[in-house]
Amino acid sequence: MKVLKFGGTSVGSPERMKKLLDIVDASQRQIVVLSAVSGTTNSLVEIGKAYLAGDKPKAALLIAALKDKYQFFIQELFAGEQYLAQGKEVIDYHFNLLSGLANDLFTNIEEKVILAQGELLSTTLYHVYLKEIGVPSVLLPALDFMKIDEDNEPVVDYITSHLTPLLEKHPENNLFITQGYICRNSFGEIDNLRRGGSDYTASLIGAGIRSEEVQIWTDIDGMHNNDPRIVKGTQPIAQLSFDEAAELAYFGAKILHPQSVFPAQRYKIPVRLLNTMDPQAKGTLITNESEKNKIKSIAAKDDITAIRIQSTRMLLAYGFLRRVFEVFERYKTSIDMITTSEVAVSLTIDDTTYIKDIEAELTTFGSVEIEKHQTIICVVGDFGTDKHGYAARVLEAIKHIPLRMISYGGSEHNLSLLVKTDEKTEALRSLHSRLF
Ligand code: ADP
Ligand code: ASP
Ligand code: MG
Repeated sequence: MKVLKFGGTSVGSPERMKKLLDIVDASQRQIVVLSAVSGTTNSLVEIGKAYLAGDKPKAALLIAALKDKYQFFIQELFAGEQYLAQGKEVIDYHFNLLSGLANDLFTNIEEKVILAQGELLSTTLYHVYLKEIGVPSVLLPALDFMKIDEDNEPVVDYITSHLTPLLEKHPENNLFITQGYICRNSFGEIDNLRRGGSDYTASLIGAGIRSEEVQIWTDIDGMHNNDPRIVKGTQPIAQLSFDEAAELAYFGAKILHPQSVFPAQRYKIPVRLLNTMDPQAKGTLITNESEKNKIKSIAAKDDITAIRIQSTRMLLAYGFLRRVFEVFERYKTSIDMITTSEVAVSLTIDDTTYIKDIEAELTTFGSVEIEKHQTIICVVGDFGTDKHGYAARVLEAIKHIPLRMISYGGSEHNLSLLVKTDEKTEALRSLHSRLF
């Protein structure tokens, strides 16, 4: 059984939604994961912010504007009065729920309920549309099987044990529709897998049911060798290993949610990145295989903070790094890059929630310097220890750009550089023109 995920632009208009059946083969048993209609989650984020700020009039205006969009959407999606009326009921239900939150005490629990409405709307409307055109389908509520634990980690066994019976209930049915992004947390509350999380849903379902393949359908023909929003003339990459894809996703290639590769990797499920606007294009295939002798792709991750801890006590001391890492562990802050010298260590983080506390604790070890507005540039390719010349080519390509950190040798397929965010565009362009 395959899992097909369609992103926001792939369901972004009634025409697009109708065209999904050019790709989805209704004669095959498969699970279709849908994102919210493009722009919806951003609007829901704004509505949540308005409520949190106590600005109910602003929330009401935002809700009304979003509802208007959906009124137009259903006018075009449905042909007959009966189904248009059903569509209207769906919209009324979800928007009444959004407006109704004005009466409650508003916390981040309610905020997550708001964020979930986008995927609930898109999947329900699509389900009603399939009914109208006479294509049988079953709508599976993701909140019944998608779960994260106390550490916000998805639980694959839970997905397997809760999704399998739902599928078995409908042995005759081929097409199953479900929501990307949304889940329940360890308290049973509505939660989500973070922005862009529908990719993660697809991969988790793929892992949960040991799917034969996961397909991520989006608005571009696969993973490109550089960020197409910044660099002209980028090219799709035909084949990537799970490790390479994970690295690119984590370091900024927006086409994939950062964690979405891991469940598929664990159960060796091939992932294909495909283009809804050009279904014949080859896209990218992600498997265990890696193409050798190649620099493959470049990605960039912004909003990075660099921290340098300098200490003469570090000289010849063992246990120093452990104590430094323990500080970050206590504040549940993960470290991306690290470089060390005999008397200093530099590292980077992207989550600065606890930066003040972290800084205060690190100061007990020595002097601490913090630099914001940094960008990690990640070059992915075959950097095996038997290779020579690749690192030199990378550094040569950006010799005119000041480098704050270089990380090489952590894995065989990545070289990371830290530059000021102001230098990012030039760094990406220069690397692109010299490496590809
Ligand atoms: P969806 O809504 O389908 O999930 P996203 O907007 O999340 O789509 O991801 C697709 C977008 O990712 C592309 O339109 C492209 O602009 C952006 N992108 C960034 N880096 C890359 C890359 N290396 N390769 C392909 N797309 C990328
Ligand atoms: N709708 C969610 C978002 O915009 C999840 C997704 O599209 O993957 O982040
Ligand atoms: Mg996405």
